[in-house]
Amino acid sequence: MAIDGPSGAGKSTLARAAGKKLNLLYVDTGAIYRTVALYTLRRGVEGKEAAAMAALLPEIHIAMQYAPGGLQRMLLNGEDVTDLIRTQEVSMAASAVATHPEVRDFLLKMQREMAENHSVIMDGRDIGTVVLPWAAVKIFLTAGSEARARRRWLELQRRGTPQDFTQLLQETIRRDEDDANRAIAPLRPAADAVVLDTTELNFEESLQRIIEIIRERTGL
Ligand code: C5P
Repeated sequence: MAIDGPSGAGKSTLARAAGKKLNLLYVDTGAIYRTVALYTLRRGVEGKEAAAMAALLPEIHIAMQYAPGGLQRMLLNGEDVTDLIRTQEVSMAASAVATHPEVRDFLLKMQREMAENHSVIMDGRDIGTVVLPWAAVKIFLTAGSEARARRRWLELQRRGTPQDFTQLLQETIRRDEDDANRAIAPLRPAADAVVLDTTELNFEESLQRIIEIIRERTGL
């Protein structure tokens, strides 16, 4: 199953919940890009420097572990960075590193291997278009930018790292533009994706709709 869409549309919480209900392994691919971004930030490499970025890739070893409840823990060269990759600084850096074809190729294999070895529900930006174009179900999850920035604002508050709403809204819009306008694997619905707008839906309604869409198309 492929779930794509812009940041804050509810992909990760919804995909994780749907995975639990349908017995599918939830794979958060944004976390993988975030882990690469954290490494580049630590090494002082700007996401825009293509050659320097490519040179770093062989130094990066990423592993994923699954805690009970389906929580995906990210290991960067053996260090658990699950919480460290959730800052706004890493969000912006992830969007920058994700523009590089070298980075996308490096991560493509890893994502496909996960799907070959498990029944997955995978969320990201290009899962239905590039990573798993053969996926049985593709959902493009979206919501208005204000609603998405508000969800992110609430999430950061819950995590104890509150941020100014106006700035968050501007960054949400900028990240969407960067993701949608990049040359490689831009954010867009696959031709055969079901588009689900969650602006007016609460969590339970969105989850129910996702499960219906999956059940209508599979035997699950
Ligand atoms: O989903 P999340 O906000 O964690 O993703 C962080 C960034 O990683 C996105 O803004 C996007 O640029 C990039 N990304 C991507 N392709 C994916 C998943 C994430 O380009 N499949």
